[in-house]
Amino acid sequence: MSDFVVNMFSDTVTRPTPGMLQAMMTVEVGDDMGGEDPTVNRLESMVAELLNKEAAVFACSGTQSNQMGIRSHCFPGDELLIEENGHIARFEGGAPAAISGITTRTVRGRHGMVDVSDLEGKVHADNQHLATTKLLCCENTTNGGGGRAWPVDQLQRICGWAHEVGLKTHLDGARLFNAVTTSNVHVREICDGFDTVSICFSKGLGCPMGSILVGSKENIHRARRIRKMMGGALRQVGIIAASAIYALENNVERLAEDHANARTFAEAISRIDGISIDLDGVESNLVFFGLDPEIGDASQLSSALRERGVRIGAMGPQMLRACTHLDVDAAGVVRAADAVAECVQAGIKQFAASKFGPFCRA
Ligand SMILES: *Cc1c(COP(=O)(O)O)cnc(C)c1O
Repeated sequence: MSDFVVNMFSDTVTRPTPGMLQAMMTVEVGDDMGGEDPTVNRLESMVAELLNKEAAVFACSGTQSNQMGIRSHCFPGDELLIEENGHIARFEGGAPAAISGITTRTVRGRHGMVDVSDLEGKVHADNQHLATTKLLCCENTTNGGGGRAWPVDQLQRICGWAHEVGLKTHLDGARLFNAVTTSNVHVREICDGFDTVSICFSKGLGCPMGSILVGSKENIHRARRIRKMMGGALRQVGIIAASAIYALENNVERLAEDHANARTFAEAISRIDGISIDLDGVESNLVFFGLDPEIGDASQLSSALRERGVRIGAMGPQMLRACTHLDVDAAGVVRAADAVAECVQAGIKQFAASKFGPFCRA
């Protein structure tokens, strides 16, 4: 098997650039558990100010900052509402229930997004028989929903409605700056309606780790206590905060390149017989595409690509997801699209030739 040449598995695979490493090496640090790391403090106030919120707290991962946010709004016996493809509902190990005693009620939407009509009637009345509906969680860009950026008016409408009916609002902004890039608005327009916002530094922003939770002083105070309980309060973590500051200053504008590369890739694979893709749905750095079952299944195509030095993950029996980021350039996505074409054509030929079907190495 070759070393991965084009790794489009996720935007979490990026390695820190020399500039980022330099920023990390020359940083002032202290004991952050005591609030004494000047670089963490600088990052927290920088992001709070950027989003026009009162406070922020660094977290180890996006899962951790989502769970800190959720727990800062809810008590055991409460429930949250979320679109059924949401990361919080599907990919955080059941954490709302396990960590906070919270029920997750999923709602079917479109492309990971919901509107007021999907949620009306879903808020429980105050009744001892029922879980207390406390929180609405949204995700922007949507991941499981296909890399879409919410229309800003829809976000504002849904947050307005949520507050009217007494819900708190949390935004899983793992890829918030991808959403900003797609929507071409100030980040505040996306975040204003949310009581808490979680942002990942470890995705498109290119840091080795880290996330941040932003919100009111009261929520962030609670979130700090929860972070400590989760074992996520760290010491000289200014080394990591320095990478996040560097990313905010250097890696936000360039997300547009990732989106352009995703589009190039999407258009190239749309011309391959046996691949299905909704080109209009490619709005950010995530490209979801389907494989005709006559050719093979998604995991077979993923393995065949891997042998050709291209890594793209299977997201369902016939669905794959390719992801662009700062370690994949324009030539890389062309190479990857060529590899998809080769594999699919090889698969088709093999299928015609063999009763065992495509990619079958048995
Ligand atoms: C990646 C991701 C997270 C956080 O994941 P971690 O691996 O815990 O950092 C949260 N939400 C979404 C939508 C994500 O894609």
